[in-house]
Amino acid sequence: MKLCMVGAGYVGLVSGAGFAEMGNQVICADVDRAKVATLRAGRMPIVEPELDQLVARSVEARRLSFTDDLPSAIAASDVVFIAVGTPGHPDGSVDTSAVEAVAHTVAQSVRKETVLVLKSTVPPGTNQMVSGIVAKAAHRVHVVSNPEFLKEGDAIRDFMWPDRIVIGCAPGDEVAKDVMRRVYQPLCHERDRIIWMDPVSAELTKYAGNALLAMRISFMNEVALLCERLGADVHQVRWGIGSDHRIGAKFLYAGAGYGGSCFPKDVRALIHVGRQNGLELELVSATDRVNRRQRKVLLDKVRSSVGGDLRGKTIGIWGMAFKPRTDDVREAPAMALIEALVGEGASVMAHDPAGSDHALAKFGPRAKLARDAYEAAEGADCLVLVTEWREYHNPDFKRLKSIMRRPALVDGRNVWAGFGLREQGFVYIGVGVRGKRWHVNEFS
Ligand code: NAD
Repeated sequence: MKLCMVGAGYVGLVSGAGFAEMGNQVICADVDRAKVATLRAGRMPIVEPELDQLVARSVEARRLSFTDDLPSAIAASDVVFIAVGTPGHPDGSVDTSAVEAVAHTVAQSVRKETVLVLKSTVPPGTNQMVSGIVAKAAHRVHVVSNPEFLKEGDAIRDFMWPDRIVIGCAPGDEVAKDVMRRVYQPLCHERDRIIWMDPVSAELTKYAGNALLAMRISFMNEVALLCERLGADVHQVRWGIGSDHRIGAKFLYAGAGYGGSCFPKDVRALIHVGRQNGLELELVSATDRVNRRQRKVLLDKVRSSVGGDLRGKTIGIWGMAFKPRTDDVREAPAMALIEALVGEGASVMAHDPAGSDHALAKFGPRAKLARDAYEAAEGADCLVLVTEWREYHNPDFKRLKSIMRRPALVDGRNVWAGFGLREQGFVYIGVGVRGKRWHVNEFS
């Protein structure tokens, strides 16, 4: 089939390359000319494991190409996906202007009956709004809601082997159903992963899913705070509750709080949608408040590790991206922490395996990018682990102690909680953990 993926970002590029891998003819269209030029030159504009090989295979086989000419790409395709950004406004409302702009281009450009798929995360009601725009097209355009659930860092695996594929079609739209069945059939060979529903339910499913995952993180951050008051250990509590099959072990990690381009904005969007409909979503609002508080909790820990005053202190940061295996720093806890540290008069030396100077530019000369992890710790009064990249899990602590001005470690992900670092002369501060050495079989 001929597919057009509008928006070649984290979602569009992975999905476009994924559909091309299945034998489809895919053209990724983006308004960002520099991004299109980068892709045409065979380079990746984002960091995502194995994406370069996936893209290269289909480019070489001439199944995948890139353009900034949206109308031509749309006109030549049977199915058009919209995977453009939908950023949030401060009040929680969602900026769907890019989705609307693409819908207008689709309305003007289609040359045959076309299926238009909303893959961007969009507020309930957007399918209806887009259907109104494309109703003016010269040919029938069937609008389908197909929210994407991939996560950065594992995006290809998530796209190729999804837990489920949610598709919202207007009741009775058999053309759209047939086309979507065919598009996703290669992913349903082992078992049918498609869950059919109406468009507004599909739109809400995406927000409700992200809000529930975010809620688990905020819940554990709250439990971690209570652990600190009680002298309990959140690691043990997590194992204890996560082993219950009704609960499950995932998304129960206390730490620096959630970030990224999805959870914060989607949680706020859901609260906004509730209010627009006269409903205060209490649990979702609390999830957001607890996450904001967690930013402050981390900052307080750093401040207390240096004796209460950050002025003139040097703080090393390990991990800038909102999670490992991506370069995405949107709403990353590390970015909020660096801003606060610089604001209180500290200097920051940050390291991230995928990091760039670009992400730090807005903080001015007091935030610099280290060339390697140990450079970030050199002369530091405190080293903060914010993003749990693998290379930070088992560092050379003797070396760290010898190069830091003061051996203070704030472990925002509790990855060193069982290493007995206090016995090794460090000031060790985790999130809801005791920080004592774990012994083999201690918890068996
Ligand atoms: P992104 O910012 O990485 O990419 C969006 C792309 O769209 C950019 O390349 C931009 O240049 C392009 N674009 C913007 N306006 C355009 C227009 N009018 N025409 C053509 N291209 C245009 O965003 P992303 O992270 O890929 O997210 C895209 C959508 O998917 C969002 O709604 C997001 O909430 C959702 N989503 C993201 C993830 C994720 O992990 N990043 C996961 C699931 C869903």
